[in-house]
Amino acid sequence: AKADGGRRVRVFEPEMEERQNQRRWLERELRLAIGTDQIALHYQPLFDLATNAVTSFEALARWHHPERGMISPGEFIPVAEATGLIDALGAYVLQKACADAMGWPGKQRVAVNISPIQFREGNIDRFVEEVLRTTRLPSQRLELEITESVILSQDQASFDMLTRLRRLGVRFSMDDFGTGYSSLSSLNTFRFDKIKLDQSFVRNLLEKDEAAAIVHVVAELGRSLKITTTAEGVETPEQLARLRASGFSEVQGYLLSRPIPAADVPDFINTQNAL
Ligand code: C2E
Ligand code: CA
Ligand code: CA
Ligand code: CA
Repeated sequence: AKADGGRRVRVFEPEMEERQNQRRWLERELRLAIGTDQIALHYQPLFDLATNAVTSFEALARWHHPERGMISPGEFIPVAEATGLIDALGAYVLQKACADAMGWPGKQRVAVNISPIQFREGNIDRFVEEVLRTTRLPSQRLELEITESVILSQDQASFDMLTRLRRLGVRFSMDDFGTGYSSLSSLNTFRFDKIKLDQSFVRNLLEKDEAAAIVHVVAELGRSLKITTTAEGVETPEQLARLRASGFSEVQGYLLSRPIPAADVPDFINTQNAL
């Protein structure tokens, strides 16, 4: 078995080294990119199902590397989280998103994804407060999207930070609802303003009875708890019709709009208003 293992190591070594090099390259380049125009924000609208109005825009980070082209957040966010660069990146995104929202021709909210790692440093609450003060964005217009892992960390310091943020008037959305192990327990521990059902459920909505049942239960849960329910990743009219019938509050997805560059958001809002 030992000889076998040895052989396996030799076979996989170059691949692992390659991956290591790739990660180191990403880290080095990302360090240089943060704070420059290589990192941009796109915004994806969330639509109220009752009124069809845009309630908010989710900020999504985009990295345009001069040589490698577009690098997706699915690739660089994990690197940023593993290297501590997420604090600088997250600060940049939050500041930029709040400043952008102040320039919109409407009072839509802006939703910002916050990594659980950003709660470790211990001053995200003070930073949010400072950004709200300097950009003059009303706190109710800021939604922080967090995942259950922030709640589950069980550490008192993170929890106190969340509580202080909530006192500022900032809203909280539970992102990727249903993908973790204890989404329900997290809802029971911290009061969220919104549940964002993970797109995997929406994708299977028409093919799988299980997904359809879960969608109904989550809509009902939102009604009982009096919190907004948003379905992500809506791509077809059939999915939209089902979500509407279930009584979801909001939808987000390519069917309604892809994420749009920051510079195009004001025109998008004006066009929506004219409809
Ligand atoms: P997420 O927060 O769950 O964001 C939703 C993702 O689904 C986005 O991918 C969005 O472009 C994509 N999406 C939206 N509608 C559809 C649809 O109809 N179909 C499909 N297939 N996908 C759709 P994106 O922009 O690639 O971001 C991926 C993830 O990276 C995000 O997942 C989020 O976890 C993370 N991320 C992005 N920007 C930031 C950021 O500024 N900070 C942090 N901490 N994480 C970020
Ligand atoms: Ca999100
Ligand atoms: Ca999500
Ligand atoms: Ca996600």
